[in-house]
Amino acid sequence: MIVKLPNGLLDGPDLFNYVEVEELTGKQQNYLANKDLVVGNIGHVPKILEDLVISLQNKEGLKWKGDIKEAIWKLPSGDIETILIKIREKTFGPKFYHEAMCNDPECQHINKNLMLKLDKLKLSPLSVKEMLNKKKRTFTLPKAKIEVEVKPLYLKELFDVIKITTNKKDELITSLVVLSIKRLGTKTPVTKEDVESLKATDIQYLQEKLSDVLLEGTIDTDVEVVCEKCEKEFTSKLNVFDSDFFALTKATVS
Ligand SMILES: [Zn+2]
Repeated sequence: MIVKLPNGLLDGPDLFNYVEVEELTGKQQNYLANKDLVVGNIGHVPKILEDLVISLQNKEGLKWKGDIKEAIWKLPSGDIETILIKIREKTFGPKFYHEAMCNDPECQHINKNLMLKLDKLKLSPLSVKEMLNKKKRTFTLPKAKIEVEVKPLYLKELFDVIKITTNKKDELITSLVVLSIKRLGTKTPVTKEDVESLKATDIQYLQEKLSDVLLEGTIDTDVEVVCEKCEKEFTSKLNVFDSDFFALTKATVS
């Protein structure tokens, strides 16, 4: 199965934004059953990608010559999500059944057997021109008057996000912000201490910018649900990084 990615790997003048993926076998199901890899972690993700991404190609079908094991760490999170969704689709078909809890605090009803067609999820690609346009991702902090360049999250940062959100709640804000900063003034890479020394208003400004600026192409994993109990509409996000996303039972109505 050839899959178009919302970003891809830019190597010189060539954009390799297609991947060839295979379906899950027993080997990957063993990763998914391995508690050390999946509990509070996304350890199964790089292993599945290493096994099942066969090649990285450009629009003309020319294959990237490098090592796929390295390439997967250079793809933004939107690409990783897209690949995982397509591996699921190739393995069990496009229909994905899931549950979503109503986000009305009074209701919290668990809506079951919601169906999503994985082949219909909308891709919003980022053009090469946008990828190369650093100006859009660079701004000046109002207090410190320092230039900041931000970047998308890659696979390594996704692991960091999990670590931070599960273990270090007190450092949440600065730790999450630091993951998206490529350069602070002339300093790169940027450390947690660099961000901690910034004024609170600068950090707030950074957070606002990070939610506004388009950092990468995406696949739309927001699911609109109308609660069957209170009839209010809410949005639930498909979590493709959960090992449960690859569970066979999710392919059939219970
Ligand atoms: Zn409800």
